Amino acid sequence: MENEPGEFFCTECDKVVNKDDKVCNNCGADLTEIVEESDTLIDEPQFKTLHHLGGVISFLGWIVVALGVASFIFMKDTFPVGTAFFGALLIAIIGIVIVANGQLLSCFVSIEWNTKKTNELLTELLEKRTD
Ligand SMILES: [Zn+2]
Repeated sequence: MENEPGEFFCTECDKVVNKDDKVCNNCGADLTEIVEESDTLIDEPQFKTLHHLGGVISFLGWIVVALGVASFIFMKDTFPVGTAFFGALLIAIIGIVIVANGQLLSCFVSIEWNTKKTNELLTELLEKRTD
């Protein structure tokens, strides 16, 4: 049995189907569900953009943290030390939350990407095994 790359198998009858087929040529089973599932996984340009965006958000967060620390130096001259401290702390916390969100985005995108890559590798391995 020849097995070209890019061949997919019908989930209902296990016959080889075309990747772009909407229905199985053999049994007529709906194949759109499988196509949709793979579409939800992010592609490479999307991954790079989102991963980069996560990095930018994290970087901006660190700037806010730095601003919070810097603001304390200026605020302590005009406000009571306690007020200046909590003001600076509040800004720093906001900054850390931004950093966390940026890293969370990068992390989430990386997990999605790893899942996609793992799926591709598994599909490749399974295709090789059927040879
Ligand atoms: Zn079928």
